Amino acid sequence: MKIAVLGQGISGTIITFQLIKKGFKPTVFDQINPNSPSRVAAGIWNPVTFRRPSLSWNAEKFIESLGPTYKGIEIFSNSKFYYPMNYLRIFSSAEEQNNWFSKAADEPFSNFMNNTLYKGNLDRKIRNRFGGAELFHAGYVDTNKMLNDFREELKKRNQLLEVNIGQSQVSFGKKVQVNHSNQTEEFDALIFANGLNIRDFQPFEDLPFQPVKGEVLTIKSKTLKVDKILSKGFFMLPVGELTFKIGATYSNTDMTTDLTEKGKSELIDKLKELIGDTEFEIVDHKVGIRPAIKGRRPVIGPHPHYENTFAFSGMGSKAILMAPLLAEQLVDHIENKSQIDSEVDVKRFL
Ligand SMILES: Cc1cc2nc3c(=O)[nH]c(=O)nc-3n(C[C@H](O)[C@H](O)[C@H](O)COP(=O)(O)OP(=O)(O)OC[C@H]3O[C@@H](n4cnc5c(N)ncnc54)[C@H](O)[C@@H]3O)c2cc1C
Repeated sequence: MKIAVLGQGISGTIITFQLIKKGFKPTVFDQINPNSPSRVAAGIWNPVTFRRPSLSWNAEKFIESLGPTYKGIEIFSNSKFYYPMNYLRIFSSAEEQNNWFSKAADEPFSNFMNNTLYKGNLDRKIRNRFGGAELFHAGYVDTNKMLNDFREELKKRNQLLEVNIGQSQVSFGKKVQVNHSNQTEEFDALIFANGLNIRDFQPFEDLPFQPVKGEVLTIKSKTLKVDKILSKGFFMLPVGELTFKIGATYSNTDMTTDLTEKGKSELIDKLKELIGDTEFEIVDHKVGIRPAIKGRRPVIGPHPHYENTFAFSGMGSKAILMAPLLAEQLVDHIENKSQIDSEVDVKRFL
């Protein structure tokens, strides 16, 4: 079966890897865009939603396939980008602390949320009046490293074409035809793993995306000693020598990829609340648009009228957590016609 994948962001990388693992030899079309969310993302995975708090949808199942997938891509790409890491939630109030401990004692929460106040090492510059608690099974993926090294491996195997594919270059029928590099190539299946740009293609143009803009900063501080992910209404992620990612903002009004002073100062204010007068220097500021969709569940599976045309998109702010298991499910569907979970089935919108 000859399969094409459009897009090599987080989604495209993972679906391509799962296809290769099952013995397929997909062709990947991708034009790098430095503002694509996969290039901007902090790459954190975390199974808990803090507000109430509660477990993220399907978290237990997603976590199971996450480790084997990223480790598998590391081996395939001869790379290192997968970092399980301790994650400390710093409480903003006594109420938040109470809410946490009222949940953390019982299953399934106890598998993910520590039921005791954090007593380990924490830089004294971190303000934590109400204490904090750890959550288990978290970490981050260095997304640029994963994307670049996987891409190099695909190139070596002649499986990656660095081209932009427009709507007029694709014909949908018994076979999917893609015009590229002055030729027409036929495929048995085409998987759209091109994030928000899936809307540029007629079969998927009506998908009800509700994109969310996000900005992140990279800072350096010579004095901060933090070796875990900290979270307090924003995250602080240690990514190397004295370097931290600070994020992220959420906006559903401004859909430009312009960097904003507002986004920057929002993050700086939150950071200063956490680290007080500790000195730091901003070394990078990035922006991207998250491919979130109505109902906040991804869109996976075959188009209802074009059975050989598949969606693999709508990852919102949780691509790292969700994509590994969802890719396994989509590949299993393509191979064995297994049922796509109705909660993520793209047909619910088409
Ligand atoms: C500030 C910010 C922080 C984030 N932090 C996290 C985080 O910590 N953890 C997490 O899990 N998620 C995070 N996200 C969300 C995450 O980035 C997205 O869910 C994810 O990147 C979506 O990946 P994707 O591969 O589906 O789409 P994309 O990243 O958009 O990738 C699509 C790829 O396809 C290519 N492409 C598109 N159209 C075409 C075409 N017509 N022809 C050729 N190539 C094409 C693009 O150039 C790109 O390479 C964050 C997002 C933002 C903006």
